[in-house]
Amino acid sequence: MHIPFDNSYAALPQDFYTRINPTSVKSPMLLAFNNDLAKILGIETADVTEQSQIFSGNKIPQGAAPLAQLYAGHQFGNYNPQLGDGRAILLGEVIDTNGLRRDIQLKGSGPTPYSRGGDGRAWVGPVLREYVISEAMHALGIPTTRALAAVATGEDILREQGMLPGAVLTRIASSHLRVGTFQVFAHRNQPEQLQILTDYAIARHYPDAAGPMDLLRAVCRKQADLIAAWMSVGFIHGVMNTDNCSIAGETIDYGPCAFMDDFHMGRVFSSIDRQSRYAYGNQPNMALWNMAQLATALLQLADNKDAALEEATAIIHAMPDQIETAWLARFGAKIGLHAPHPDDTDLIQSLLDLMQAEGADFTNTFRALSGDHARNHFTNRDAFDAWSRNHQARIAAEPDPAATMNAANPAVIPRNHRMEQMITAATAGDMAPFHRLMQAFATPFVDTDPKLARTPAPAETVRATFCGT
Ligand code: AMP
Ligand code: MG
Repeated sequence: MHIPFDNSYAALPQDFYTRINPTSVKSPMLLAFNNDLAKILGIETADVTEQSQIFSGNKIPQGAAPLAQLYAGHQFGNYNPQLGDGRAILLGEVIDTNGLRRDIQLKGSGPTPYSRGGDGRAWVGPVLREYVISEAMHALGIPTTRALAAVATGEDILREQGMLPGAVLTRIASSHLRVGTFQVFAHRNQPEQLQILTDYAIARHYPDAAGPMDLLRAVCRKQADLIAAWMSVGFIHGVMNTDNCSIAGETIDYGPCAFMDDFHMGRVFSSIDRQSRYAYGNQPNMALWNMAQLATALLQLADNKDAALEEATAIIHAMPDQIETAWLARFGAKIGLHAPHPDDTDLIQSLLDLMQAEGADFTNTFRALSGDHARNHFTNRDAFDAWSRNHQARIAAEPDPAATMNAANPAVIPRNHRMEQMITAATAGDMAPFHRLMQAFATPFVDTDPKLARTPAPAETVRATFCGT
């Protein structure tokens, strides 16, 4: 296999990472491989045995410079001074066929100096969950890390549920720079390292940025767009800790994330999110909070602290409006408006209020708006009809509102109960549900597999997702 490595992180000073190889596994077996993505990355490969050897970590490909990255982060609001890749190893980077630098990282590849007592492993369930959901997010048009490969290790690992089959995910990211990567050097009072990291992040992601405050401004914009995009598909990340907040603005670290079925602003799935910190409707606040932590770290680089503080404050204070604007564009499209106006917020919000009052399915209700079945999603038909009259009046002058809606309202999303079914089957050796989901989620705005659009039966409903990764 030829991987055209072009490594830049490994050239940074040694206190940014620890060089370490993946730990070999007993009998790697390829579960999934993303050929389309491999092509984009310029990876030439056809041999399944070699794929399973390399993407399990058993064989180090030529040109790789394996390392575990250092970072810190606020977890549920509390600062943890040292996290780092506890079970991930960066093999290296490639420049893809679009000219973009991409990280190739193994996740679940064995312990590192940052494992903090963990086993450095992942089990098949969360590995396939991240594989499917990250690829679905990509197809939904939402910035995200991607999945290149999933390999079963042939080794069982111990989790709360008992012994479970291990697996390694190969994840592709624009980078693995996180807010927490900045925090670790800021908290350790290492301004030289912080400066090097800032220069690196600017060169890699925001070459037009003139300095730390410009970098902050650019990341805030990306995060504002990202949060609006999540909300537009009913996505709840679940662990928006600063170590899971990407500088490149991609969705990263799929843990107890979930797409909601019935709509509620306060929806939470993660069993460890007891305060509802990362509830669906609180995600804009949390993105802001994370950006304030990035601002705090970057302020250490300022020569004129007062001026920089003023600038950073203005940047952070601009974010709610940016999120609102991005939200309006996304949700406006969902009701058929190609150029929504702030006045349209009430129309969107009143639909969401109706949906929340009735527990209407988020995805299917929006999808039905382009036809004439949406009222079937409500028991209070009068209330919906009244809304619909206003809606019809508003979209009357739109060129093709149905097309706008169908391009913004997916027919299928990775529903939690389908994820569970897929994981149960895969654990028993049946990958057919995985392939079915991957096929449907490749074109989520086309209704190719209507059964996958169905809401869960009461007995299938997943109420909590677990970190038990
Ligand atoms: P997360 O919030 O899931 O992204 O993980 C938070 C931190 O815990 C990161 O530093 C991970 O590398 C680490 N971690 C999670 N699971 C394990 C594991 N099984 N072994 C070692 N470290 C882990
Ligand atoms: Mg993480």
